[in-house]
Amino acid sequence: MKLCVLGSGSAGNCTYIATRETRILVDLGFGRISLRRRLRQAGLSLDRLDALLLTHEHTDHVSGVPALVRDLDAPVLMTEGTLRESPPLQELNRVKIVPVGSPFHIGDLEVEAFPVSHDAAQPVGFRFAAEGTQGLLATDLGEPTQEILEHLAGCDWLIMESNHDEEMVLAGPYPWLLKQRLMGPKGHLSNHALGRCLKTHLGAKTRHVLLAHLSRTNNHPQLALDQVSEALSGPSGGGESGPRVHLTHQNRPSIVLDL
Ligand SMILES: [Zn+2]
Ligand SMILES: [Zn+2]
Repeated sequence: MKLCVLGSGSAGNCTYIATRETRILVDLGFGRISLRRRLRQAGLSLDRLDALLLTHEHTDHVSGVPALVRDLDAPVLMTEGTLRESPPLQELNRVKIVPVGSPFHIGDLEVEAFPVSHDAAQPVGFRFAAEGTQGLLATDLGEPTQEILEHLAGCDWLIMESNHDEEMVLAGPYPWLLKQRLMGPKGHLSNHALGRCLKTHLGAKTRHVLLAHLSRTNNHPQLALDQVSEALSGPSGGGESGPRVHLTHQNRPSIVLDL
């Protein structure tokens, strides 16, 4: 399985996942030109797309979807609630509703959508399995739900939100209501909250953790890396036995993992 986070954060989200037979994107919150540039930078191509999966209807996850679907004629998979809340997505030709909580297949890729706690209509994260490898993508969540904690142990790789440092939010420029929303149970996951969750629930199988959806205002990449790595009790980049911790970026692709 090959994967790369092409962009992550409020400036636009998109993740590329490919197996030998199947190629998908999760979310697309930027335009075609930017997508092409990022794919090129990552050494990836997208002449064919088997599906575009959406986590929820917020603009940073869907703004680029209509244009890409016109280009590649790929089916767009989302929850019923996501479709209901987003008129632009209702205009698309090839929408499919995904079941939540029961696995389905896209080619040789097994996918399971699970609910996440976020202020959208019916937001989900995804678990992926193929070729003996399992991974999980969960961004935009105020707190880890039971489903996430249960899936964590069996995953080889994780893309999880490490949105903010609580002290930076409290000292930062956002109005109080926005700070409360951000740090609330339906907002975004902090570096420390992710660290605590991984420390308690991560299994021995996990080799890579990609930190996603970092805030530009309320976080620093090095701080996120340090706080999560510290919780996992290994130096940045991973110790002998622990997983390697990687950053994702707003405007350029992450490392490409080939597992
Ligand atoms: Zn988002
Ligand atoms: Zn969101």
